[in-house]
Amino acid sequence: MPDNEGMGSAGNTHGLTRSRSRSAAIVLLMLGLCGVSAVATTYVARARDAVASTPATIALDASSFTSPVGPPVVAAVPPAVAPPTATPAPAVTVSTGSCLNVPILVYHYIRIANNPKDPLGWNLSVTPRNFQSQMDWLHTAGGHPVTMEQLMGALNGGAGLPLHPVVLTFDDGHDDFATVAAPILARNGFVGINYVVSGFLGRYAYMTAAQVQSVAAMGMVIGAHTVDHVNLNALSSQVAKTEIGASKAALEHLLGHPVKDFAYPYGYFNDSVASLVAQAGFRDSVTMNSGTLQCASQHFVFHRTRVVGADTVWSFAGKAGVASPPSNWTDPQPAAYSQSARGYTS
Ligand SMILES: [Zn+2]
Repeated sequence: MPDNEGMGSAGNTHGLTRSRSRSAAIVLLMLGLCGVSAVATTYVARARDAVASTPATIALDASSFTSPVGPPVVAAVPPAVAPPTATPAPAVTVSTGSCLNVPILVYHYIRIANNPKDPLGWNLSVTPRNFQSQMDWLHTAGGHPVTMEQLMGALNGGAGLPLHPVVLTFDDGHDDFATVAAPILARNGFVGINYVVSGFLGRYAYMTAAQVQSVAAMGMVIGAHTVDHVNLNALSSQVAKTEIGASKAALEHLLGHPVKDFAYPYGYFNDSVASLVAQAGFRDSVTMNSGTLQCASQHFVFHRTRVVGADTVWSFAGKAGVASPPSNWTDPQPAAYSQSARGYTS
């Protein structure tokens, strides 16, 4: 959309001037301004979406955004992203707020899906190379993955979140999380949350109990996703309660600490299912309902955004709420995963 707006402005400017050279200069100036204004518009939208942010916080954000912007430059690519220097101390976007604009991304497989007869599997699979590019760009662009605990704390008036907060979630406990995703996350200093199906541990293409312990020891968060990956809406209350509670107990026994995050299999839930999750002692739960606005009053129906096989690093950036890479950007980092890992070729 910013490109279309830019062309419209340039066209109007051209029609109002007599000198071709002067016109060209103004066009270039407008292109530069449009590049800046597009970023500014996005930025203001983010600030506006943080519905509970304070005026002081917005002022801090605005100054931190505008200070590096010099005179307009002749560049079609918005110069919005700082070079990949050491991660600065995170600035707080909001100290409190009952609703915050925080993308919660959801991945399934990080693998090469090589079965052309399985379009669903392909759509749920992000290749290791694409995933690494996404994470490396997220780091470069100043994105800050946070945990559900941090998000809940911020929504409930606790510590604020860093700039460009995003939650990285992974469903089902596939083994490529341990072999491919976690090393990429760890190299970037990122935390991810894997919602594990406790009854699937050790099955083909799923993490073993030891792998779950290993990624937890790396700092990743383990959430629950029922025992058998069931549609909770279709079960009796008693069976649903067991699926929810037993998955929590099994993972807590494995990890030795509380498991507080839950994800509804298939995204299916209703009021009674959500109540069962709360009664089981979970702190929060995520759905497959799309959106980025998360509210304290809806902490058992948080929204998520799917990252799919067709996503590029550019479409990913939009979903993650960070600036887009330049059009010619390529990931300079060497692979962080073993290409012989089973998760890579399965
Ligand atoms: Zn699932």
